Amino acid sequence: MFDLETLCGWINEKKDIGGIVFLTVVPDNGIKPIVAVCKKGRNPEVWKVAKKLKIGSAVRIDGQYAETQISKKGLEFIPCKIVVVSEMSEEKIPIDFSGKTPFLLDTKLDYRYLTLRLPRERAIFIIRSEILKLAREWFYKNGFIEVHTPKLCGAGAEGGATVFELNYFEKKAYLAQSPQLYKQMLMSGLEKVFEITPYFRAEKFSTTRHLNESWGIDMEVGFIDNEEDIMRLLEDLIVHLVEGLAERCSKELKILNVKLKAPEKPFPRIKYDEVLEILRRRGVEIEWGEDLGDREEKILGEEMTKSGIDFYFITKYPWKVKPFYIMRENYLSRSFDLDCKGLELASGGQREHRINELVNNMLEKGLNPKDFEFYLEAFRYAMPPHGGYGLGVERLMMKLLNLENIREAILFPRDRWRLVP
Ligand code: ATP
Ligand code: MG
Repeated sequence: MFDLETLCGWINEKKDIGGIVFLTVVPDNGIKPIVAVCKKGRNPEVWKVAKKLKIGSAVRIDGQYAETQISKKGLEFIPCKIVVVSEMSEEKIPIDFSGKTPFLLDTKLDYRYLTLRLPRERAIFIIRSEILKLAREWFYKNGFIEVHTPKLCGAGAEGGATVFELNYFEKKAYLAQSPQLYKQMLMSGLEKVFEITPYFRAEKFSTTRHLNESWGIDMEVGFIDNEEDIMRLLEDLIVHLVEGLAERCSKELKILNVKLKAPEKPFPRIKYDEVLEILRRRGVEIEWGEDLGDREEKILGEEMTKSGIDFYFITKYPWKVKPFYIMRENYLSRSFDLDCKGLELASGGQREHRINELVNNMLEKGLNPKDFEFYLEAFRYAMPPHGGYGLGVERLMMKLLNLENIREAILFPRDRWRLVP
């Protein structure tokens, strides 16, 4: 006698050819579909239940995997008992699980929970979970501690991004646009911290790479020599993530048709000036001191792809385009971006830890140091040289998994038009 196995999941497809009913079930804990073959001749009771089953129902099936597997649709399973644990209260399910009728991104996002019954969609979020697990593992292995900084903040924009304002008792508060100021303050008491956190940005974005609520992997390290220390840590994390995914998520990657190969360290470092030169060779002129936009990033990405390079750093940015907290070197800054195939994934650098210079930077950027007193205070008690980065989780997923729209990488995206579900 073989042991019975129990399968829990939802009926995605049903094919009734008279004496046999084929049920495609997506199990609750996997991504490989299972085809339950219910033959009248073998088990009339099971066959009767199967015939009546509605697509979309949640079932528990006891049975055994077939000894010989011939179906291409999934693992063949021979049921000896089918229990419907939950029926739909709707007549029809709004997603065609057979894949014959494609659905729009909007439909997918409206019914995200249902699309998670599709192996491809489920694979994306299993991978997301694994990315965060691998990242945590890397940080712990390297001596970091996980911290949580406030998302409700009393100070407004750090410059650049706009913030969401809300009522906070008798005052105004703002949703955190990043953990930047707080993780820097922590450098006056800890040496290595990381945070995995949502960011809120209030711009009226209308792109495939921006969300109003997105998740970042942030870190900050004290007692550094320069931004090179931070780039080394970031490329090491990226290699760890890619290698780890290739090893642990091979089934999921296969469903998404993705082959991952860990990039070689060190990633190329391309100076801002060199970027302008590369752009010029492609007939695109931008003025020195201007930030690189989507078009410029994409062209650079194409040029890197030609040389077989996916991940690269852009360094030595003009100070003008970087925020006040970045350390200045005359007209340049100790900052970097990590780009992959034409998309910015992370920004980082060495921060200004000397309070006088920091205050000057604020004034030059048109900010009032009084608004940042709580932050500046931390720099009065022997703040060490420090640096860090913020890496966008959804951006990273877009590039690793070839997703065209950032909304595919987050369960319930928040953009200008979407606040529910
Ligand atoms: P961009 O110029 O591409 O809009 P940014 O320079 O404003 O991005 P940073 O402030 O440097 O973004 O944030 C660090 C990282 O967080 C970015 O490199 C990106 O991966 C991610 N990120 C920032 N803003 C968003 C957003 N609105 N939606 C999704 N990810 C974002
Ligand atoms: Mg940036």
